[in-house]
Amino acid sequence: MKRLIVAIDGPSGSGKSTLGKRLARRLGYQYIDTGAMYRAVAWQALQAGIDLDDPDAVARVAGALRIELEPRPDGVGVRVDGRDVTEAIRTPEVAQGASKVSAIPAVRRVLVRIQQELGRRGGIVMDGRDIGTVVFSHAEVKVYLDASEEERARRRCTEDAARGVSTDMAATRQAIRERDRRDKTREDSPLRCADDAYYLDSTGLTIDEVLDRIEALVEQRRGKPCSRD
Ligand code: C5P
Repeated sequence: MKRLIVAIDGPSGSGKSTLGKRLARRLGYQYIDTGAMYRAVAWQALQAGIDLDDPDAVARVAGALRIELEPRPDGVGVRVDGRDVTEAIRTPEVAQGASKVSAIPAVRRVLVRIQQELGRRGGIVMDGRDIGTVVFSHAEVKVYLDASEEERARRRCTEDAARGVSTDMAATRQAIRERDRRDKTREDSPLRCADDAYYLDSTGLTIDEVLDRIEALVEQRRGKPCSRD
């Protein structure tokens, strides 16, 4: 059976990574979290004391970085130059940093090239902000996963709590809004729904309901075009 490229885009906290991991497992595909790559660049730049508003310095960091994504039973492990940063890149500071460095075209060029190489042979589920519009604009399956801002903030707080981090709902919501604004308004590859993507608002849906719909879409895409929800 043909091994497809499944592109999942959407704003922060819309459930892309939960969906991506589970879908990949069901299909026997590899899951690639491209947000982790932008976070890795931000993390490394912050470690090195580099000003994230200095595009040339940040681009040098991205160009020199060795990022490895390794499948693990509970998700994906992330290594930067051999060091395990899986947990370290999940802080609010790194999230905001990732959204800043992702607006730098030279950083995007480096990471997009790596992502295209990783997905070249198909059999992948890749999530991010520009997968269906830029990285794999020819992907057989494109999903734009959305949810209300309130629901996304609530999900993020629940995830943080599960990791033992206590976060404030209002602050989380504000951080999500700020990141969305930056991601949607940047000049290079802004977050948007591709014209041929399947738009799904997951507000009020369980992960299983989302998963069932997208799995049905994958089956359908093996034969005929999808339509908007
Ligand atoms: O998905 P995640 O929240 O981990 O992504 C962190 C940040 O990385 C996003 O806010 C966005 O600015 C950036 N990003 C991007 N393009 C991608 C994936 C993530 O610009 N394909």
